[in-house]
Amino acid sequence: MPTINHFINGGIVEGQSGRFGDVFNPATGEKSADVALANAAEIDQVIVSAETAFEEWAATPPVRRARVMFKFKELVEKHGDDLARLVTAEHGKTFSDAQGSVARGLEVVEFACGIPHLLKGEYSDSVGTGVDSWSLRQPLGICAGVTPFNFPAMVPMWMFPVAIAAGNCFILKPSEKDPSCGIRMAELMTEAGLPDGVFNVINGDAEAVNALLTDPRISAISFVGSTAVAEHVYTTGAAHGKRVQALGGAKNHMIVMPDADLDQAADALMGAAFGSAGERCMAVSVAVAVGDAADKLVERLTPRVAALKVGPGNDPESEMGPLVTKAHFDRVKGYIDLGVEEGAKLLVDGRGLSLQGYEGGYYLGGNLFDNVTPDMRIYKEEIFGPVLSVVREDDFDSALKLVNDHEYGNGAAIFTRDGDAAREFSTRATAGMIGVNVPIPVPMAFHSFGGWKRSLFGGHHMHGPEGVQFFTKMKTVTSRWPDGIRKGAEYVMPVMK
Ligand code: NAD
Repeated sequence: MPTINHFINGGIVEGQSGRFGDVFNPATGEKSADVALANAAEIDQVIVSAETAFEEWAATPPVRRARVMFKFKELVEKHGDDLARLVTAEHGKTFSDAQGSVARGLEVVEFACGIPHLLKGEYSDSVGTGVDSWSLRQPLGICAGVTPFNFPAMVPMWMFPVAIAAGNCFILKPSEKDPSCGIRMAELMTEAGLPDGVFNVINGDAEAVNALLTDPRISAISFVGSTAVAEHVYTTGAAHGKRVQALGGAKNHMIVMPDADLDQAADALMGAAFGSAGERCMAVSVAVAVGDAADKLVERLTPRVAALKVGPGNDPESEMGPLVTKAHFDRVKGYIDLGVEEGAKLLVDGRGLSLQGYEGGYYLGGNLFDNVTPDMRIYKEEIFGPVLSVVREDDFDSALKLVNDHEYGNGAAIFTRDGDAAREFSTRATAGMIGVNVPIPVPMAFHSFGGWKRSLFGGHHMHGPEGVQFFTKMKTVTSRWPDGIRKGAEYVMPVMK
C-alpha cells in the first residue's frame, strides 16, 4: 500500500507521527493509499523550513518571482492531465470535469504571472513642500492554506500562486481524503525553479490545522471547507493574531421566472445540480420555480434526472461519478430519507443504484425533490450531493426573500428575459456571486471569489484583486530630503504646507 507523505524544504519527507489516514478510490471502494497525518513536531519542521526561505524569497524581485510562476504555468499545462487523473482517482469526479477544474486553477496561475503589475503602488508628488509620499505592498511572511476534498487541485491554486508570487512562503494542508495533487503541484513548483522551503505541503487532519492556527510564526490562513470548520478557523486564527479568509458551505438558489427560456433553465440546472455529483460549493441545490414555471420545469427535469449516466469517473460515458467516501455517501443518502420523512415529494429516487463490476463504489443516482418548503432540513442544510430541491414561489419578491433569508450566501442565480427583474436581483440578492442566466457564476481569476453571510468569514474574497490585498500588507512612505535649513523641533501636529 503506497504512503502519501509530506513535501518539506523541496523534497518528500516521511511522516513521523505514526498516525495515518485512509485514501480510497471512490469508484471501487478500494483503499488506494495511506496518508501521513502530521503532528505538532512536523508542523514545527515545516514552519522552520518556510521561515528559513522567507527573507530571500521576499527580496527576490517580483519579475523573477513571476518567471517561476510562468514556468509553473507551462508545467501545469504539460502535466494537467496527470493532475486531473489524480483528482478522478481520489475524488471520483469525471475526468473531463477534473480537467476543467485544473484549467480553472491554472487561470489563477496566469493571473499571478502579472504580479509585478499587481504589486505596483501609488505615488504622490509633493504632498507638502519638498515632501513626497508613496505606498507599496509587501509580503506577510508565512501563509498557510487548508483546503477541502472537492477541488484538490483548483482550490489550492486559488491560494498559493498569488501568495507565493507576492513574496510569501506557503504551507498547504490539503484534504486528507484526496491528498496526492498537493504533493504533485509542489514537485512541479520545484521543477519550475522555486527555492526550497517556499512551498511546502503538510498532510494531516484537525491536529495539523490547529497547530497552524495557533502558531505565532504563521501570518495568514486561507481556508475553504464546511461552515462549522470555517468558523472555527476564523475565530481561532483571528484570536491568534492572524489574517484569516475562511470560505464555508453553501446552498445556492436559482430562481426560474415564468418568462425564462425553460429548456435553457433545465439544461443549466442539470449541469449545476448534478455536475461533480453535486459536490461543488457553487452547485445549485435549490431551484426556485416562480408561478407557472414550476410544472413546466419539473416536467422537463424529471426524465433527465432519471436518465443521468452514473459511472466511474474514468469512463468517458459517465456524466456523474461516485461520492467521495462511504461516510459522505451515507450522509447524502440520509438526507434523501429525511426529505421523504419531511414530506417533500421525491420525484426521482437515486438510492439503491448498483453498478455491475463496481458494487463497492459510492454511487448514487440523481435525486429530484418537488414541493420542498423552507422549514425542512433538506432545504436549510447543505447536502453536498446529487440532490436538487424544487421550491415553488408565487412571485419574484417571495423568491428573492427566500434567497435572502437563507443563512448561506455563496452564489445565487436568476433565469429570466426581464432585464428589470435581473437588475433588481443583482442589486438586492445577499450572495457574493450572482448569475443572470448563468447558473454557476464562478468569477474568473482576475476577479475575486467569495460568498456572503455564513459562506465566508473574514474580509477578503480569494484570488483576483482581493487575493493580492489579502497576501500583502500596505506600507506608506513619506519622504523629505534635507534642504539644509534647520527648522528646530516642532511640538504641534505636523500639517503639510
Ligand atoms: P471540511 O470542513 O470537512 O474540511 C476542510 C478542511 O478542514 C480539510 O483540510 C480538513 O482536514 C480540515 N478539517 C476538518 N475538520 C477540522 C476541524 N475540526 N478542525 C480543523 N480542521 C479541520 O470540508 P470538506 O468536507 O473537505 O469539503 C466540503 C465543504 O467545503 C462543503 O461544505 C463545501 O461547501 C465547502 N466548500 C466551500 C467552498 C467555497 O468556496 N465557499 C469551496 C469548496 C468547498
